[in-house]
Amino acid sequence: MYDKYSLKAEEFINHEEILKTLEYAEKNKNNKELINQILEKARPVYNGKSVSCAGLDHREASVLLACKDNELIEKMYALAQEIKQAFYGNRIVMFAPLYLSNYCVNSCVYCPYHIKNKHIARKKLTQEEIKKEVIALQDMGHKRLAIESGEDPVNNPIEYILESIKTIYSIKHKNGAIRRVNVNIAATTEENYKKLKDAGIGTYILFQETYHKESYEKLHPAGPKHNYAYHTEAMDRAMNAGIDDVGLGVLFGLELYKYEFAGLLMHAEHLEAVHGVGPHTISVPRVKRADDIDPNVFDNGIDDDTFSKITACIRIAVPYTGMIISTRENESCRNKLLKLGVSQISGGSRTSVGGYSEKDRPHETEQFDVSDQRELDEVVRWLMKLGYIPSFCTACYREGRTGDRFMSLCKTGQIQNCCHPNALMTLKEFLEDYASPETAKIGNELITKELENIPNPKTRAIAKEYIENIHNGKRDFRF
Ligand code: SAM
Repeated sequence: MYDKYSLKAEEFINHEEILKTLEYAEKNKNNKELINQILEKARPVYNGKSVSCAGLDHREASVLLACKDNELIEKMYALAQEIKQAFYGNRIVMFAPLYLSNYCVNSCVYCPYHIKNKHIARKKLTQEEIKKEVIALQDMGHKRLAIESGEDPVNNPIEYILESIKTIYSIKHKNGAIRRVNVNIAATTEENYKKLKDAGIGTYILFQETYHKESYEKLHPAGPKHNYAYHTEAMDRAMNAGIDDVGLGVLFGLELYKYEFAGLLMHAEHLEAVHGVGPHTISVPRVKRADDIDPNVFDNGIDDDTFSKITACIRIAVPYTGMIISTRENESCRNKLLKLGVSQISGGSRTSVGGYSEKDRPHETEQFDVSDQRELDEVVRWLMKLGYIPSFCTACYREGRTGDRFMSLCKTGQIQNCCHPNALMTLKEFLEDYASPETAKIGNELITKELENIPNPKTRAIAKEYIENIHNGKRDFRF
């Protein structure tokens, strides 16, 4: 039976409820009146300085996703853009993945790290090698990382992950610093989540891969990840352990996208119902070619238009949740999705273990082919030319504004007085320390213009002073 309050995977992600949802969506996909009502419900409500959005449940959002009427789809896109503007403005948060180890005991059929892959070079970074990687990342300008690792209790035990996090936070090279480490490792115990929390992680990220239990079990035929319930209930253990910010995701291409979409939203509804706060982020990766993996083997690949629609519908359904797109996608796809709701992107990524300290892009330990191979400086310049503010901000997490405290910042409309100046100040640091002259020129003009968009005059004056201080060599200001 479907119950979003249940702690059992098969009850909060309920197969029958998803099938009923898909049936309901199919039946109503041409029901203009209902679709317009749903869009109306999701519209931002402005009240003085504050703005709020009701969001949508999985059934309502699934109707939008099923709709094929171009006029209504255009309406959806316009609404997704409006919601994004209301909560995220034109800021785009930047991050990079850091691959620690590709040793893995699982057998995920879409991932080249699977245990049966005998020809991929296995590598685990030593703490010395991590230092080198972090210095290389700091020299690019990164402040926020997502660490990635295969699951292997012998080679990559939790102690190794904890030690690596400590090493990453400890490195201060020139003006560089990694100020937030997000963690993408396999589902683990509540006790281990407590240890990660104590190590000062930002978001705990775990992709569900697929919400379809039967497919899940086939796609993960052996190893600890085979256990659907243990994997699906991981975020509850993480949140019980005190981790406020969790990141969901589906690997699109494995199962029918409409099924995954409903499952993803049910997962978000469950976290909100049980823990009082929904997911901090949702990632939308698509299966890519990799070592011994051919993405065409999976029948459920989605085209760019469907991908855009999914992104817009997620934006509308969970307005307070950040959305992440990685360098799995190319420049033009990223451009499209940024408009429709994506608020966080990686740049200059290497998906190989030890890849950042090597000059040329190494392939032999890569997790998947990177489509967007531009350097970070180029990505930052590109974003600014498109009218975005690349942000290296990590202030919320460092000020304890996580979980529901972050959400209330969103809802009270204080973002423009807080995130906006923080984005500008961290961009200024990037321009001073790492940018090419062309990027710096565009960035400095952008900062001058955008400082005027800080509504509170006092905050605006302080932000201007801080920006001047950064120019004079000081670092790490935040609101
Ligand atoms: N090992 C951890 C786990 O199993 O959750 C997390 C790290 S894994 C390196 C990160 C993610 O990469 C996986 O959750 C999966 O969704 C994604 N991934 C694996 N193979 C991929 C492929 N061929 N193309 C795109 N993404 C892939």
